[in-house]
Amino acid sequence: MQRLYKGIQKFQQLHHKKDEEFYSELSKGQSPDVLFFACSDSRVDPNLITQSKPGELFIVKNVGNIIPANGPRWNKSCTAAAIEFSLLVLKVPDIVICGHSDCGAMKALYYDEKDFSEMPNLKDWVNTAKNVKEAVEHEKNPDPSYKARKELTEKMHVMLQIENLMSYPLVKEAVEEEKLTLHGWYYDIGTGLVHAYDRHNNTFEPIQCDDDDLIGPVLKRDSCSDAQ
Ligand SMILES: [Zn+2]
Repeated sequence: MQRLYKGIQKFQQLHHKKDEEFYSELSKGQSPDVLFFACSDSRVDPNLITQSKPGELFIVKNVGNIIPANGPRWNKSCTAAAIEFSLLVLKVPDIVICGHSDCGAMKALYYDEKDFSEMPNLKDWVNTAKNVKEAVEHEKNPDPSYKARKELTEKMHVMLQIENLMSYPLVKEAVEEEKLTLHGWYYDIGTGLVHAYDRHNNTFEPIQCDDDDLIGPVLKRDSCSDAQ
């Protein structure tokens, strides 16, 4: 913990002091433009990988970036609360669901009963996404290697979470009225690449910037020149 205490001191003395005006403005309220779902994994830092500042992303982190489908069991979940607040109060125009490589929750989908013996809550939570495993098992001619199955699971999971998002009437309505865009991303920790799901071609393509434009299959209307 000592390292964290020193980090707080460093933040206050260096970063906060240097940007006092920015934080003073921020203290008056938030106006993020993206609801960002990511995994609790300690290696996944949405602000870092998008180089965004405090106030820009409304972030929900949970084990496995799982978005439970709307329904009686989960309709009081944190996910549903975040969706309501983001769409009705913050009025965000974009939702990102960001999966990642080497995801422990996706590995846990393949655990057997013995692996879960002391983790009944993890089992329950991960089972919320068990349809991902079923979808992977129904894939035609999959690469049989462990690595390929892991990546396929992680990417299919992102695709299915987009479907789950659409099960919330608020989301569906806002998408149909073109007030909201859903983005599925896959962050590769080892390479730093972020791939965006292209629903028309059913592929994940790396989001790249050249000097002038953002070349990404989903975020075409955004511009790299806006990046700070
Ligand atoms: Zn994860």
